[in-house]
Amino acid sequence: MPTVYDLTRDQLTDRLVSWGEPAFRGKQLWTQLWKRAATYDQMSDVSPTLRERLASDLPLGVEVLDERTADKGATRKSLLRLGGKHVIETVLMGYRDRVTVCVSSQVGCAMGCGFCATGQMGLESNLTAGEIAAQVVWARREAARLPESTPRRLSNVVFMGMGEPMANYRPVRDAVTRLMDPTGMRVGARHITVSTVGLVPGIRRLGNDHPRVSLAVSLHAADDELRNELVPPNRMHPLAELEAAIAAWRERTRRRPTIEWAMIDGVNDSDEQAGKLAPIAYRLRAHVNLIPLNPTPGWSDRPSSTPRIESFVRVLEAGGVNVTVRDTRGRRIDAACGQLRLGHEFGSA
Ligand code: SF4
Repeated sequence: MPTVYDLTRDQLTDRLVSWGEPAFRGKQLWTQLWKRAATYDQMSDVSPTLRERLASDLPLGVEVLDERTADKGATRKSLLRLGGKHVIETVLMGYRDRVTVCVSSQVGCAMGCGFCATGQMGLESNLTAGEIAAQVVWARREAARLPESTPRRLSNVVFMGMGEPMANYRPVRDAVTRLMDPTGMRVGARHITVSTVGLVPGIRRLGNDHPRVSLAVSLHAADDELRNELVPPNRMHPLAELEAAIAAWRERTRRRPTIEWAMIDGVNDSDEQAGKLAPIAYRLRAHVNLIPLNPTPGWSDRPSSTPRIESFVRVLEAGGVNVTVRDTRGRRIDAACGQLRLGHEFGSA
């Protein structure tokens, strides 16, 4: 059954009119659902009979199955059932100056990156646009429960949860459209980041469809031999093709791309790899995020040591590249990058 967030504003109005409601009810409900992130129970200006019908025919479609917290409550990983059947994880992260939600775009993932827990489970199904957007609406409500040390107001949306967003492109594109809708949530394009492991057609389409949305590319290796091993889709879209697509995206959008790099001990953390990455990142004017590998049971590699990371950073900086070492927040509850699905039972219910 589709969730109410799968409907456009016109479709919602049409549905209500077909139930004998006046047309203005569509606008009223749209505002409540998207602008105020209200649940049906909270809609005191809607009659109990209509609320009941909405809940049964057009459900909000988000059911919380489990929740774990870390970082004194500032990181919250939630196991959600969407649309009555798709079980995924969504992570809410409160920082001193911002609140970010990391949303899933698929149940599992077919890309097969060995070090990633989601990749280890394979692909079960795609999420709909409404199911993706519903995670953000839900997160907006939940942000109010974060500790006082955070702004308690959702500011950023990153497509870095379970799944490869470009492999479920249309629903991801439509979810972004809904989130940015000026009559709804009005999330600023610059506060949305879509991440990819390097699916070139998706990068091109995103640049055309949403030119103000940010792009993050998980590179993890700077030559085809190693990248074929770590990130199997590289066999389809080798590095030269990927670099050309990111360069075209940059040209089209005038935005700075981000390169994500999991630091894996003895695998991709050598000065030689840094030396190969530096000119690529420099040509793309990309910002590089280094993420110490998050351990997963299905993969024996370890995160790089601090001295190794420091040396890698030095090589990149000497090549004129901006680089950040990302914190490993959420690791204790398996909410860190590449760890989604751990500690929970998964599958479509
Ligand atoms: S790293 Fe991303 S693309 Fe690769 S398997 Fe994991 S979720 Fe899929």
